Amino acid sequence: MKLVNTYQNLPEQLYRQTLPTTVKNPNLLVFNNKLAKSLNMDVCNEETLANWFSGNTLIDGSEPIAQAYAGHQFGQLNILGDGRAVLLGEAKNQAGELIDVQLKGSGITPFSRSGDGKASMSAMLREYLISEAMHALKIPTTRSLAVVTTGENIIRQGLEQQAILTRTAASHIRVGTFVYAQLQASQINDDNLLQLLFDYSINRHYPHLKSLNTPDKALALLEVVMDKQAQLIAHWHRVGFIHGVLNTDNVAISGEGIDYGPCAFMDTYNPQTVYSSIDYQGRYAFKNQMPITWWNMARFAESLLPLIDNDEKKAIELATNTINTFDEKYKKHWYGMLCAKIGLNNTDKNLALAKALLELMQTYELDYTNSFKQLTLMAMGVDFSDIETSEFNKITDTEALNTWMNDWKQAQKNGNKTNALTLMQTHNPLFIPRNHLVENTLQQANSEGLTEFKALLKTLKTPYDWRLYKKTTRFQQPATQEWNAQFKTFCGT
Ligand code: AMP
Ligand code: MG
Repeated sequence: MKLVNTYQNLPEQLYRQTLPTTVKNPNLLVFNNKLAKSLNMDVCNEETLANWFSGNTLIDGSEPIAQAYAGHQFGQLNILGDGRAVLLGEAKNQAGELIDVQLKGSGITPFSRSGDGKASMSAMLREYLISEAMHALKIPTTRSLAVVTTGENIIRQGLEQQAILTRTAASHIRVGTFVYAQLQASQINDDNLLQLLFDYSINRHYPHLKSLNTPDKALALLEVVMDKQAQLIAHWHRVGFIHGVLNTDNVAISGEGIDYGPCAFMDTYNPQTVYSSIDYQGRYAFKNQMPITWWNMARFAESLLPLIDNDEKKAIELATNTINTFDEKYKKHWYGMLCAKIGLNNTDKNLALAKALLELMQTYELDYTNSFKQLTLMAMGVDFSDIETSEFNKITDTEALNTWMNDWKQAQKNGNKTNALTLMQTHNPLFIPRNHLVENTLQQANSEGLTEFKALLKTLKTPYDWRLYKKTTRFQQPATQEWNAQFKTFCGT
C-alpha cells in the first residue's frame, strides 16, 4: 500500500508537518480486515501492522501532518487543530476515492496546547465500536481501522493503558477548518487561502459542483453540506444517538459523523436526554441536535461569505436565504425516516400518527429502540411475549394505546404490506450499542481482555438482521433506569 498526500498541496498555514511519537511496545489489539481490503491495503503480519498503526514505522508514501482548524466549543470560538492526531496520508479505496488515514492518540503536535497528545485504550476502543456500529446502521461515519496499545500507561480515570486508533474518513475537513481559513485570510486581507481550501473541498467531495462559477458554487457547497448534515442528524434521531459535542470542529463537511467522545445512545425515549458530563446546559441534548446543527451551518455560511459575494451585505442576504432552508431539509429527511419506522410513507396523516406514538413513548417512558423493534416484530407476525414483555404494556391509558394501534393497523392496510415491512426492518435496528453494554465491555477489556468487546462488535455489525431477534436477546436489553441515571461519559478521553 502506498499513501498520497494531496492535502499538502494546500498552503502550509493549514497544517504542520508532525511525526507521530514512537511508542515502546506496540501491540495490535483490533484490526478491521474488511476495511483494510476496501482500501486496497495488503494485510501483512501483525508486527508490521502494529508498527504502522502505532506510528513507529511510516507506511510507504506517508508524510504525516497535524491539521489546523478552529472550533466553536460550546459556542466559544477557539483556535484548535489536531492536538493528538496526525494525518498519515490518503489511501485510495476501491471506488478510486481518497480516504484519509489518521492516527489518533499518537502524541503531541504543535496544536497540543496543554494536552498530552495521548488517548486511553478504553476511549479508542469506544470510538472503534461506535463508528463501526454507525457504519453497520447505514449512517455516514468515519471508520476505524485499528487499535494498537503502546505498552505505556496514562492517567485518565486513574491509570489506564494507552492506545492509538487508526481512523479513516472521506476527509477530516471540518466546518472549523473553513472557519480557521477564513480567519487567517481576513487577517491578511487575502482570500486566497480560503479559495484554495474551497476548491480542494469541492474537488474532493462535491466534484459535480465544479462547473459552476465561484459565487454560485459557494452557495451550492453550503446547500449540499447543509443537506448532508440534516440527513446525518435525522439518522441519529432515527437510532436515538446523542453525539455529545457538536462543536464546529466536530462537524465534517463530507457529512460523516466524526469524533465519538462523550456520545451515547438513548434508552428511554426522552428528547431532553443529555449524557455528556461537561454539557451542563444541555446544549447538545438529543432534541437540540437539530437547532445546534443549524447554528453550526450558519457558522459555516459565515466562513464562506467572502466567496459568495464581494459585497458583504449581499453575501449575508444570499447566505441567509440558504441557511433558512435548513428546517425544511431536516424535516424532509427526518419525517421520511420517522414514518418509515412505523412502515408508512411520509404523508401528513402518517406523520401525525408517528408523532402521536412518540408522545406516548415519552409520557410512559418507553424504550426507544425496543418499542420500534416490537412494532416491527408485530408487523412480521412474531409473538415475542416469550422473549420479552411488551414495551406498550407501560402505557396505562389503554384507550389511547388501542386507538393508536387501530389507527396504525388501518394505515398499514391502506399501504403495501411488503413495502411496510421492508421500511420497518431497514429503519429500526434490532441492536444499538447500549450504553451499559459498551461500558461493561470496556471495563472488561481493561481487566480480562477483548472477548466481550469482540462479541458485542460482531453483534453490532448486523443491526438489521431480523433473523437474530431470538438469539441475541442479551444485546437488546436496556440498562435499568438507575444505571442510566448515573451514567455519564467523559470528554478529553
Ligand atoms: P475533541 O474534544 O476530541 O474533539 O478535541 C477538541 C480539541 O482538543 C482538539 O483540538 C483536540 O486535538 C484537542 N485534544 C483533545 N484531547 C487532547 C489531548 N489528550 N492532548 C492534546 N490535545 C487534545
Ligand atoms: Mg474533535
